[in-house]
Amino acid sequence: MIRRTLLVAALSALAAPAQAQTYPTRIVTIVVPFAAGGPTDAVARLISEAMAKDLGQTVVVENAGGAGGTIGADRVAKARPDGYTILLHHIGMATIPTLYRRLPYDPVNAFAPIGLVTPVPMTVIARKDHPAASFTDLIAWIRATKENVNLGNAGLGAASQLCGTLLQYLLQTPMTAVPFRGTGPAMTELLGGRIDLMCDQTTNTTEQIRAGAVKVYAVTVPERLAALPDVPTTAEVGMPDLAVTIWHGLYAPRNTPEAVIARLSRALQAALKDEKVIGRFAELGTMPEPAERATPEAHRAHWMAEIAKWRPVLQAANQYAD
Ligand code: ASP
Repeated sequence: MIRRTLLVAALSALAAPAQAQTYPTRIVTIVVPFAAGGPTDAVARLISEAMAKDLGQTVVVENAGGAGGTIGADRVAKARPDGYTILLHHIGMATIPTLYRRLPYDPVNAFAPIGLVTPVPMTVIARKDHPAASFTDLIAWIRATKENVNLGNAGLGAASQLCGTLLQYLLQTPMTAVPFRGTGPAMTELLGGRIDLMCDQTTNTTEQIRAGAVKVYAVTVPERLAALPDVPTTAEVGMPDLAVTIWHGLYAPRNTPEAVIARLSRALQAALKDEKVIGRFAELGTMPEPAERATPEAHRAHWMAEIAKWRPVLQAANQYAD
């Protein structure tokens, strides 16, 4: 009995460092806090495949949409900190701490950043049969239609909600927000003409724009996009303050071992150099973050700067946030 105990102790002493070295030994799950078929999901599915190659393990994507991304974030905040359940989230990680007074998790301290993934532009789009021929027309129509405008979004804390809030604030005109579990399902409604407008990432809109299935009025970044060269920037159409880039990052639960975070960060960096990822991102109007930004340190610095950047804006625009 004593000999057996000693043997077990000796084996577990050996196993501890070996385990950290061999992580991952089983499937890694990336939780996407929005519905399948949307832009965050698209990014997750691309990088999961490429990260799996580097990690030598299967990486699966699990969609846990709802409540502006807070349901999925909560799931990861409460997961075992062992590197097998991680989160892909976006700019919402920087707006949710201001937008929500109470949450079932700590929106900052519950997470350990792994690295930034991709900065995605947004597009202002409308149903295909929308009467506005230009951004100027669209603004006149919004001003005339007000609360009767149905503006799709993915809930309080979503990127689409941030962009929609900015648009209402800059026009000082309230519209009616229609929330979905993600902008994948919202796009289905826009394609069916059941909602009027949406501001959403190019990772969800580029193909629909190119196919002529939705109308597009502007991109929310300072330069035109190679993927959508005919679409003017919001600065060109006279609304430079409608400027928003949806950065994405990977997070582990707080207290995940540093060696595991470092391994995930290396896998992310490898994924961002993958030809298929680079090519698909370019088709969808975005690009991978450079390796030096796909690190825990750069990610944390950007995240904190974004919380500070958006807090006063959201406080000023508060009446339009829903
Ligand atoms: N892009 C969406 C948003 O935050 C969410 C999603 O990926 O469906 O508005």
